[in-house]
Amino acid sequence: MGGPEVTDGRDGCAYLINLGELILIDTGAGWSVDKIISNINKLGFDPKIISKILLTHCHIDHIGGVPEIKKKFAPEIYIHKLDAPPLENGDQILTAATWYQTAFPPTPIDVKFNSPEEILSIGSQKIVCLHTPGHTPGSISIYLDKDGKRILFGQDLHGPLLEEFGSNIEDYGRSTKRLLDLNADILCEGHFGICKTKKDVRNYILSYRRQYGVG
Ligand SMILES: [Zn+2]
Ligand SMILES: [Zn+2]
Repeated sequence: MGGPEVTDGRDGCAYLINLGELILIDTGAGWSVDKIISNINKLGFDPKIISKILLTHCHIDHIGGVPEIKKKFAPEIYIHKLDAPPLENGDQILTAATWYQTAFPPTPIDVKFNSPEEILSIGSQKIVCLHTPGHTPGSISIYLDKDGKRILFGQDLHGPLLEEFGSNIEDYGRSTKRLLDLNADILCEGHFGICKTKKDVRNYILSYRRQYGVG
């Protein structure tokens, strides 16, 4: 629905899951909410039925659209509890808003993930949210099995790993190992698009593990 080549160069990718109700994974940086909504409409979906926004972590290129989308459609906002305070407090450094020369207002969270693995059941479909710290302490990765394929949403798998983000290299090593073990067929990444074969997914994750010296 959104992303650097789709809506705005500053956006992380935003993905939509249609399960009768709509679930949005991340929201772009905030400048392109109207474009994201128009993309949802163009696909024939009604944005009024966006029931949930799953936020993969607390950075502005992923969360910037939350206040406006919340105001328009009142979806429930989900994020891991360790990445919730930067949104709740409107922390301009930890949300990286300052980096993007913008501001993020204090924003309430509806549901905070609090365990290594949480499962959302929407009808018969399960959506698994894994706590995969590394890039930030509360980063999550999301996957679901559909039509015989495992689809993984791993947003800032490429990093960067920076002290000011609270990044942790050991966590990153453990988290990316866990994602490799999922053996996903498709990886929807946060900035670099989509890997469409098991081999590409594996190589993509391995290349960053090598780059950070954990692979
Ligand atoms: Zn990002
Ligand atoms: Zn990030």
